[in-house]
Amino acid sequence: MKMLNLIPKVTQKRDVISWILRLSKQLTRDESPYPPEFNDEFKLAVKKRDGFKCLKCGMTEEDHIKIYGIREAVHHIDYKKENTCFENCCTLCIKCNLEVNSNRYYWKNFFQSLLSERYNLNEVLAK
Ligand SMILES: [Zn+2]
Repeated sequence: MKMLNLIPKVTQKRDVISWILRLSKQLTRDESPYPPEFNDEFKLAVKKRDGFKCLKCGMTEEDHIKIYGIREAVHHIDYKKENTCFENCCTLCIKCNLEVNSNRYYWKNFFQSLLSERYNLNEVLAK
C-alpha cells in the first residue's frame, strides 16, 4: 500500500502564504486594525516611490506576483500601524516582511537610515 496516497495533494502556494501570514500575526499578537489612511492609494504611492521593489532584497512586485500570487507588502518601519506616513513605510516582499518581525530594533534603524539616505528625508523633515 502506498502511504503517499494518503497525503493530500500539494497544497496551493497561496494557502501556505496565507497560513504563514496568519501565524506571524498570532506570533506577534498584532491584532490592532490598520488606520483608514493605510489604504490602497497610500500603499500604491509608497510602492511607486520605492520603484515597486522590496527595499531589502530588491525583488520586483512583478516577480512577487508571479512567485507568490499576491502583491508586495507595505511595512511600518517603527511597527506602529497608527504611524502611517511616507517616512514610516516602505515596500517589502513577503519573505523580508516576515524576517523583519524579529530583531525589530535593528530593522527599524536599518530602514530609517536607508530611507533618509535614499530620499533625503532629513532635508524634507527639516523644512
Ligand atoms: Zn525582500
